[in-house]
This record gives sequence, structure tokens and C-alpha cells, in this order.
Amino acid sequence: MSEVLVLVDHVDGTVRKTTAEMLTAARRLGEPSAVFVGSPDEQARADLARFGAVKIYRVEAAEVSEHLVAPTAEVLAHLVAQTAPTAVLIASSSEGKEIAGRLAIKIGSGLVTDAVDLEPGQDGVLVTKAAFAGSYVTVCTVTSGVPVLTVKPNSVTAQEAAVEEPVEEQVETDISTQARAAQVIQRETRKASGRPALNEAAIVVSGGRGTGGDFGPVEAFADHLGAAVGASRAAVDAGWYPHSNQVGQTGVSVSPQLYVAAGISGAVQHRAGMQTSKTVVAVNKDAEAPIFDMVDFGVVGDLFTILPDAVEKLSE
Ligand code: FAD
Repeated sequence: MSEVLVLVDHVDGTVRKTTAEMLTAARRLGEPSAVFVGSPDEQARADLARFGAVKIYRVEAAEVSEHLVAPTAEVLAHLVAQTAPTAVLIASSSEGKEIAGRLAIKIGSGLVTDAVDLEPGQDGVLVTKAAFAGSYVTVCTVTSGVPVLTVKPNSVTAQEAAVEEPVEEQVETDISTQARAAQVIQRETRKASGRPALNEAAIVVSGGRGTGGDFGPVEAFADHLGAAVGASRAAVDAGWYPHSNQVGQTGVSVSPQLYVAAGISGAVQHRAGMQTSKTVVAVNKDAEAPIFDMVDFGVVGDLFTILPDAVEKLSE
């Protein structure tokens, strides 16, 4: 069976949930091979094996981990030439998409970003993704070269399929001078908010202009559910919430199991970032708000009453 390369998404060696999801998707297409930039410790190795990595490629060279995305794209291009995989899967983060774009150019392949589903097809991998700000769901396939695919977090349910002892291989390749042009000289860990990361949270509760700048009820409800907090652009532009929390076309694209929009009208640019959520709930005091056209559950009412009531009921 042909290999499927999965670029491991990790933070300081801790394998993220997105990697487990990509390994699960990769198993539908072939034999997953994890590509780990850095030195995986025992826990990382165990996590990769648990989700079906048959092989682990270790890329321990400092010129890869201490530089921005270009060296990683070069390493992947080298591995594609060596293994002729069925596909290369990369997490749909800004960094992942940049690596994917560079890789696709290097190997002369087609690229599909923000995949929400992957299936083997007769003429290649069938990739499902939203298009035109979420107005369409398309199924596409790469017709030239090895498909380079970025996969949206939370699109696939991670399922274990333990491999007893994955084969490990150290990747040795020369990194070009151009790829080493941008070097990381300092890293600072972002202050933890105590909430899950927006793009990989299973539940997201977002607030919009309807909050009037008071995100208290939105945050309280989110914390009760263990959710991440998102915001509409109107709320961000007003300075009520950081841009890093903006959901939508010009913000973060999320695909949680549950998305709650409170005081958000449902503009097409907002939908573009949350349309692929599994279940959508809206709280809005205007029964005619466009968000109600796309929800699974809608509550017409004041978020300052509904959200605290919901917290109270859930606490019972
Ligand atoms: P509004 O549209 O003003 O809606 C507020 C809603 O709150 C209303 O429906 C109102 O009925 C309701 N409400 C008011 N008070 C309460 C209350 N007490 N309780 C319950 N409901 C209440 N937007 C994004 O979100 N993300 C993007 O990435 C994005 N990118 C954009 C890119 C471009 C190029 C452009 C042109 C626009 C973009 N926008 C984006 C902006 C988008 O068009 C909308 O203007 C924005 O989403 C509106 O935010 P909102 O729903 O919070 O505000």
C-alpha cells in the first residue's frame, strides 16, 4: 500500500489533536507516515503510533526547526521524491497552508486547502471543501502530481488504530541557502487563556455587535461548556475582542462540533469561517436575522438573558 505523508502538527513536541485527525483520514487513503520536525519524545512517538502511523520520519536538523516554513517544504519535497506517496496532508493553519503552497509549487502538484473530508476515488483522492465564502460545498480532486491537501481541524473524528512499533527513519537532506533566509531568533509562548485554541476547539461560542462590548455572558457560557470564544468582525473592529479571535473570511476558519453565535447577524463573510460547523445554534433578538437561515437551533431573545439562563440550567 502506498504511503500517505502527514506533517505532524505539534507544539514543543506535544502532538496536537489535528495530527490524530489527519492520521485517521490518511488511513482511508493508504499507509500513514508521520513527518516530525524536531525530536519526538516517547509520548509523541506513542501518540503517533496510537493513531496509526506506520512510519515516523524524523527531521531533527536545526536548520529546519529554527527557520520559518521554507525548509519544511523542502524536506517534504525530498520525501515526496523518495516515497511517491498517495497524498501529503498538512494541518489547515496559516503556517500549514504556507508550507503546502510552497510544497505544491516545488513538486508541480495540485493543492487543495481547507479540506473537510477525504475519500479515495477512482481518479484520485476526493476532497470535500466549502467554496465562495461557504456558499457551496464542492468535491474536487487533484489531477496533476501528488495531491497536497490541508485538512481543517475537527473535520475528521480521530480514531485509534494502534501500530505496535512504527518504523523510524532519520531524514537527511540539504537545505538550500534561500530556504534558510528567514530564521527564528526568539520564541515567546502566548499567555494561556485557559480556553482551547479557537481553530481546534470542539465547541466555539462567538459574540457579535449584539454584545454591545460586554463579552461577559459569552465567556461565562463558553467556560461552562469548555469552549473557545470567537467574535464577529464588528466586535473586533469595535475593539471589544482581539483580532486573533475573529471568525470569518478575514479571520479564523473554524469547524467545531458545536458553534454558538450570540448577537451575530450572520453576514456571508462571518459564515465563511463557520459554515462547516457540525451543529450551529444562534441567539439573536431579531427573528429575521439571516443567521437563522442556517442554524440547527435558533433562540429568538436577548443574549443577556438567554446565555445566563442556559448556564443556570446546565449547572442544574
Ligand atoms: P451586526 O450585523 O450588526 O449584527 C448584530 C446582531 O446582533 C443583529 O442581528 C442584532 O439583531 C443582534 N443583537 C443585538 N442586540 C442583541 C442582544 N442583546 N441579544 C441578541 N441579539 C442581539 N465579518 C466577520 O464576522 N468575520 C469576517 O472575517 C469578516 N470579514 C469581512 C471581509 C470583508 C471583505 C467584508 C466587506 C466584511 C467582512 N466582515 C466579516 C463583516 C461582515 O460583513 C459583517 O459586517 C459582520 O459580520 C457583522 O457583525 P455582527 O453580526 O456582529 O454585527
